[in-house]
Amino acid sequence: MTKTITVFKGDGIGPEITDAVLKILNAAGADLEYEIFNVGAKEYEKNGKLIPDEAFASFDKNKVLLKSPITTPIGKGFRSLNVTLRKKYDLYANIRPAKSNKAVKTPFENVDLIVFRENTEDLYVGVEQQIDENTVHATKIITRAASERIIKDAFEYAVAHNRRKVTCVHKANILKMSDGLFLSIFYDIAKKYPQIKADDKIVDNTCMQLVMNPQQFDIMVMPNLYGDIVSDLTSGLIGGLGLLPSSNLGKDYAMFEAVHGSAPDIAGKHIANPTALLWSACMMLEYLGQDETAGKIRRAVDEVLNEGKHLTPDLHGTATTEEYCEAIIAKL
Ligand code: NAD
Repeated sequence: MTKTITVFKGDGIGPEITDAVLKILNAAGADLEYEIFNVGAKEYEKNGKLIPDEAFASFDKNKVLLKSPITTPIGKGFRSLNVTLRKKYDLYANIRPAKSNKAVKTPFENVDLIVFRENTEDLYVGVEQQIDENTVHATKIITRAASERIIKDAFEYAVAHNRRKVTCVHKANILKMSDGLFLSIFYDIAKKYPQIKADDKIVDNTCMQLVMNPQQFDIMVMPNLYGDIVSDLTSGLIGGLGLLPSSNLGKDYAMFEAVHGSAPDIAGKHIANPTALLWSACMMLEYLGQDETAGKIRRAVDEVLNEGKHLTPDLHGTATTEEYCEAIIAKL
C-alpha cells in the first residue's frame, strides 16, 4: 500500500533541497505520497507559528517525517524546533552514518562509522537558570532509561548489520556522576553482546583519534551534546555536511533529516548539495521496507559522484542543485 509521509520544507536551502529530493524519489518510483508543509522561521514571520497545527497533525497521523533544516536564532528567541520535535515525539535515537565515497577525495580513506546520539536529554533539555548578573547554570540530565535504550539500539544495530565494535564516547573523568552513569550502563549492556567488541574513549581524545585514525571506529554511542559535535566532525572526514544523512527514531515515530543546518550563506543560490537529505530519504525508504528503491537511488548517486561531471561546489564542482539532481535522474 502506498505510504503517505509528512514533509517539512524548512528554511534557507531547505525548500531547494526538498524539491530536488522529491523529484528524485518520484523518478525512482518510490511508493510514497506526500503531505508538504512550510515550517520554520519564515513561516513564523508569516503566520506566527513555527510549525502550523496541520503540519503537526499530519506527522501525528503519518508517523514518518522527511524534514529539511530549520533556522534557530542563536543566543535568543525561540527554542530549537528540532529539539522540540525530538522531545515531543520521543525520537530518542539519532543515527548518523559517515561512510567514505571513493568519488569524494578527502585526506581520509575507508571511513565507515555510525554515530548513535542520544537525542532527548543531556544539556539539550535547555534548562538554564540565571543565578546572578554574571552567572548562569545549565542543567545536564542523564537518566538510566534514556541511556539504556540508545546503548541497546547501538548494540542491536551492530548485531543486525555484522559490525565489529561499539565505542562509548564520554567525559566520565570529569563528569563522574552523569557521564559515569552512561558509561557504567554501557558496560552492563555490552555483557549481553559478547560477540561485539566494546570499548570507550573520552570525547576529547575521540576527536583527536578521529582525525588521526578514523578507521579504528565502527559504531559509536554517546550522550546528546557529544553526538552533535562529533558527528559534524565525522562529516568533515567524508567530504562535508552535504554528505551526512540521519534518522531520528522513536518507538512510534520516525524523522529523517540531513545533519546540516539551513546554510543561510548559500540559500537561494542553487548550489546546495541535496545528497545528505537524499540519503536521509533512502534511510526512510529502508525503514519503510522499500529497500529496492533506496538501493536504486544510492547506486545512481554513486555513479554521478564517481563520474564527477555534475558535482555541486562543496564537492569542488560547478553544477547547480538542479543539474546534479537531473544527472541522478538520468542514471535512474
Ligand atoms: P549549517 O550546517 O547550516 O552550515 C555550515 C556550513 O556548511 C555553511 O558554510 C554551509 O554553506 C555549508 N553547508 C551546509 N549544508 C550544505 C549543503 N547541503 N550543501 C552545501 N553546503 C552546505 O550550519 P550553521 O550555519 O551553523 O547553521 C545555520 C542555521 O541552521 C542555524 O540557525 C542553526 O541553528 C540551524 N541548524 C539547523 C539544523 C536542523 O534543522 N537540523 C541543524 C544544524 C543547524
